[in-house]
Amino acid sequence: EAGEKLNLGNFEELLSRSLPPCMRRLVERQRETKKHLKHAGRLQLRPFLKDCGFSFEDSVSWWKQELCRDPTIDSGKFDKNYMYDLEHAYGKKGHLQGQNCCGCPKLIGLPGEAVGQVHGCPFKQMDPKALQQQLQRWRVPSAYVGEIERLIKEGKRYQEACIEYFKSQHQNHEGDGVGNSPLDFFKESCVYHKK
Ligand code: SF4
Repeated sequence: EAGEKLNLGNFEELLSRSLPPCMRRLVERQRETKKHLKHAGRLQLRPFLKDCGFSFEDSVSWWKQELCRDPTIDSGKFDKNYMYDLEHAYGKKGHLQGQNCCGCPKLIGLPGEAVGQVHGCPFKQMDPKALQQQLQRWRVPSAYVGEIERLIKEGKRYQEACIEYFKSQHQNHEGDGVGNSPLDFFKESCVYHKK
């Protein structure tokens, strides 16, 4: 199967280029707020990064760097509190098959965010104003923003909203193959950029 693999060297480029909104938002929010993602957010992001290509070693250093931006977490605390989850995600602990990235219906169905939490699908989670501002920060052209808002307002069509976002970032792509799982979004984007 064709496609680029995510690694520490290409992460910054692929973050804005190829990560779906749900995952990009988690990474960016954690950086902006310097507050570590809570359980549900980590559970969402961890297997996604693995399935996109992060090796176990990539994941350990990435998560250590990102979580330690939070002044309440240092390297020792990271090793003590967060390593087990990574080992588990890669099948090194617990039941040995590891964890796989969730599909869109599951992420869309997650409960709302309590204060301090970030998780789920932004098209579902964010109120209209916050979503609009987020899409503007991501430089989504206003015609696409309008269409995304219409899809959500008129029919809660979050997955189709995501396809619109994809189309806005990948010119001349019809969005085929996107909208069912964050991993499909990533793979389609990488295939697009290979051409
Ligand atoms: Fe992520 Fe799926 Fe929502 Fe797109 S529709 S943002 S891939 S959960």
